[in-house]
Amino acid sequence: MNKILTAENIERTYKIGQTSLRVLKGVSLDVNEGETVSIMGESGSGKSTLLHVLGGLDTPKSGNVKFRGQSVYGMSAGKRAKFRAEKVGFVFQSFHLLPELDIVENVALPSMAKRGETDPVARAKELLTEVGLGERIGHRPAELSGGERQRVAIARALMNDPEIVFADEPTGNLDSKTGEKVLNYLFQLVETRRHTLVLVTHSKEVASRCSRELFLKDGLLV
Ligand code: ADP
Ligand code: MG
Repeated sequence: MNKILTAENIERTYKIGQTSLRVLKGVSLDVNEGETVSIMGESGSGKSTLLHVLGGLDTPKSGNVKFRGQSVYGMSAGKRAKFRAEKVGFVFQSFHLLPELDIVENVALPSMAKRGETDPVARAKELLTEVGLGERIGHRPAELSGGERQRVAIARALMNDPEIVFADEPTGNLDSKTGEKVLNYLFQLVETRRHTLVLVTHSKEVASRCSRELFLKDGLLV
């Protein structure tokens, strides 16, 4: 098995006024290519913090994140931005779509950060069709339901054909039936395209769909 991502001894502390909150206390993790990994843990246990550190969005206080052997936080900010744009896809709990753009433009947006996409609009439409939104092309996020918006966000996360996808409670704002439908699309895309997935969830049932289940507790992965 090829390791795609390794985290060694990650520590992350938030300073709030005079006090500091140690959220991650030395987290280590190996993610293999093609694996789907779930991370569960109580609210406030640091799951989002960990996902952001793993995805190159948040510099840890100490420890190392390596993507295919290369240190993510050893890179310049510019190189790290390129790494995020080209190798990483993110799906957030609250969708993070741009309201002014229609859904094709939302999905195609990441390709602006990457050169070489010959026809971003065609690819965006293809991805939207794959998440069941082929009939909604031209609509804006406000015209869609929560589940549909999250399917747009999934299509956007896959726009640049990332090597690894991070999803932070992607169904947290959806009712369970809608959430299940969204997850079916996510797993179907990830599995057919052989993306690696790290998924944060509150749901045991969702976690059990992954090839490996981890828990974050007291600042450590168990
Ligand atoms: P989870 O995703 O598991 O709910 P988070 O990673 O969002 O947990 O947060 C972990 C802890 O760190 C929480 O107690 C939260 O309040 C705190 N926290 C998160 N982000 C910040 C921040 N930017 N500044 C201060 N405290 C934060
Ligand atoms: Mg969170």
